[in-house]
Amino acid sequence: MSVLVAGAGPTGMVTALTLAANGVPCRVLERRPQSSGSSRALGLQARSMELLAGLGLADEVERVAYRLSGASIMRGDAELSRLSWVPPQSPYPYTYVLPQSGLEEILRGRLREVGVEVEYGAEVRTVVQYDDRVGVQLADGRPLEASWLVGADGSRSRVRTELEIALDGGATGETYYLADVVLDAAPPFRDSAMWLGPAGPLMLMRLPGPVELWRIFVDMTDAAQTEELPEPSIAVLQQLLDERGPSRTRIADVPWTSIFRTRVCLAAEYRRGRAFLAGDAAHVFPPFGGQGMNLGIQDAVNLAWRLARVEQGASDRLLDGYEAERHPVAAATIRDVERRRQLYALRNPIARSLRDAMLRFGARVPGAARQASLQNSQLDLSYRTGRRRPFSPGPEIGDRAPDAALAEGTVHDRLGVDHLTLLHFDTAQGERLDEPGTVVVRIDDETDPAGTTRARYGLRQGYVLIRPDGYLASRGTDLAEVRRVVASINEPARIR
Ligand SMILES: Cc1cc2nc3c(=O)[nH]c(=O)nc-3n(C[C@H](O)[C@H](O)[C@H](O)COP(=O)(O)OP(=O)(O)OC[C@H]3O[C@@H](n4cnc5c(N)ncnc54)[C@H](O)[C@@H]3O)c2cc1C
Repeated sequence: MSVLVAGAGPTGMVTALTLAANGVPCRVLERRPQSSGSSRALGLQARSMELLAGLGLADEVERVAYRLSGASIMRGDAELSRLSWVPPQSPYPYTYVLPQSGLEEILRGRLREVGVEVEYGAEVRTVVQYDDRVGVQLADGRPLEASWLVGADGSRSRVRTELEIALDGGATGETYYLADVVLDAAPPFRDSAMWLGPAGPLMLMRLPGPVELWRIFVDMTDAAQTEELPEPSIAVLQQLLDERGPSRTRIADVPWTSIFRTRVCLAAEYRRGRAFLAGDAAHVFPPFGGQGMNLGIQDAVNLAWRLARVEQGASDRLLDGYEAERHPVAAATIRDVERRRQLYALRNPIARSLRDAMLRFGARVPGAARQASLQNSQLDLSYRTGRRRPFSPGPEIGDRAPDAALAEGTVHDRLGVDHLTLLHFDTAQGERLDEPGTVVVRIDDETDPAGTTRARYGLRQGYVLIRPDGYLASRGTDLAEVRRVVASINEPARIR
């Protein structure tokens, strides 16, 4: 058995799917006795959808999710302003809203199709490391061993504790009610709306489906400081809606509730020996902007393609890139979410007025809306090292590979989590590259008649090498350099 994955949340299951796509055996161990029906995270961002497309799952998500195109800032029943997303350049340019449980069902179904059954009632209790393998003991006493362990076991990660990896950060002091509520009629606002009152924000977001099911998110920090909070029942939530939100919006049912105390934490390391942390096991922060689950999905693909190559004989130095790339991304996301949290937590009336004016102004400035949409989509994320060349005409090493039309399909259709993709511009001029595990795509007048791909990549001759997770590993005109990079990815362990 090559890889044990602890945790069958989105991170664990995407890790397993990426390993399976590469033909690497794995087992998914889940503490719960059965799958969870709780909705929790609601949004898939564009970058996650691109990765899910590489696993053949984006169409299925699109069938059950709806496309969120903005959020309204409200006062009572009146819309003060509308923050409209500016769709970024991607085959999936929106936030795709579906409950986490719905995504998990899709992931679990696909895992079953590829022969991996999530093992419920399998709680990892201890972790033991050896030079050539890692062992875990389950709560029922069963010992298991594998070459690698991925701790995707959520914010209270047992794997993290067992590895003695410190979690930097802690509670930030806010308390929220979260609940899924059924409204008795369609409310007088669109899919996502926010009221920024003196007691903190109240937000509502529609869930997909035939009934008026909405997620409500209410800041209860002030009340939590002076009293024991009651359970968020229909009556309690209705009173909060009436006091802080729209009038005449009636709650008919409350199928799910949670009391959420915000924490902001980041694991000091993502790897110890043969064990790794990914997703909420590595980073925890409040859900402003819907980034958490998306970071986990991207951690999963970044780690799993590397593990797969190493299992196929590459040097385990390839694994160093996981923490080097993903830890700074989580740190930057946390900084951004912290800014939002602090903005929402404002209580001083003057500071709140300034904030509200700033949000309304931001909604009207196209450049600001475009930047906010791009950042939320996680498409602007880059692993670039070194300085960007001035006037660079296309993506550079470390940047996400942009999509572009070809005579048949698009560039993204050729990417996949199980191979490197070499875009070979103007093949008449160049040598051919034929390396194992690499799909070569010709880009010339025949395959790119409108020149879209050449324009987007800023190349007429030369090569772009794209990693299995969709980022540029190399670009240029020197095929020897591309060969060197492919070799460094495939480099056998014995060369070390
Ligand atoms: C109440 C709540 C509401 C949220 N709302 C939002 C939201 O609105 N928007 C948003 O973006 N994010 C939200 N989040 C965060 C989001 O749910 C997480 O970012 C996301 O679930 C991370 O996925 P994950 O797979 O890394 O971890 P998880 O989804 O937590 O999955 C971890 C899995 O590991 C299992 N496990 C735990 N310990 C063990 C063990 N020892 N052995 C084996 N299995 C184990 C758990 O049972 C669980 O199934 C919310 C979280 C909570 C708790």
